[in-house]
Amino acid sequence: MVSQLLLWDVDHTLIENSGISKAIYSSAFSRLASRPPINPPITAGMTDRLIMRKMFVSDSVPDPGWPRTDDALQAAGAELQPKLREVGYVLPGVREVLKQIHTRAEVVQSVVTGNIAQNAAIKLAAFALEGFFDMAAGAYGGDSEDRHDLVRLAKARAERLYNAVFDESNTTVIGDTPRDVEAACQGGARIVAVATGVDSESELRAAGANVVLRDLSDIDHAVSVILGR
Ligand SMILES: [Mg+2]
Repeated sequence: MVSQLLLWDVDHTLIENSGISKAIYSSAFSRLASRPPINPPITAGMTDRLIMRKMFVSDSVPDPGWPRTDDALQAAGAELQPKLREVGYVLPGVREVLKQIHTRAEVVQSVVTGNIAQNAAIKLAAFALEGFFDMAAGAYGGDSEDRHDLVRLAKARAERLYNAVFDESNTTVIGDTPRDVEAACQGGARIVAVATGVDSESELRAAGANVVLRDLSDIDHAVSVILGR
């Protein structure tokens, strides 16, 4: 019986995409606007919907609407997966931590990410990480512009799938940005912040994270902190 839900962020928490995320947004933009963007995409823990909308605004391009934007993001993600596999990597300790937690029948692992579902799957599959997650219990950048909605949505999906109640006592978000921290706090989940992105340990604490890890390279420590034991 499942009694604990872990919701992992993807970029800079599980993997380093080495610029491929920004390449995906630029490629999607180019497909829709028939020219590359003048201003580079700004990401920082935002959802794909919000990132793309801001690009259309800052580049003065009419917003083509979400269905076409979603299609363009999927096409760009599929096109850039081989490059991601080549230049990106799994962050220290991540695979081993996922593997250890995966052996526990009472814990389900999924993702809460600003990526659309298809590109989250593409990124995890690039490094053979997809088998650790129940992707149907997650929430994605196509579901809402606002990351705060995603934690609540993932909990509701997991509750339906596992016939369990998930609240702040048994739900943990693992993420690398102040937006992950805020989304966890407002979405009714505990947060374990990891300083493997651009935000420092002190910035993550200032955003409200009580538990901050430098990275996951100390496997046993990371597993026990994430499981809250
Ligand atoms: Mg991230």
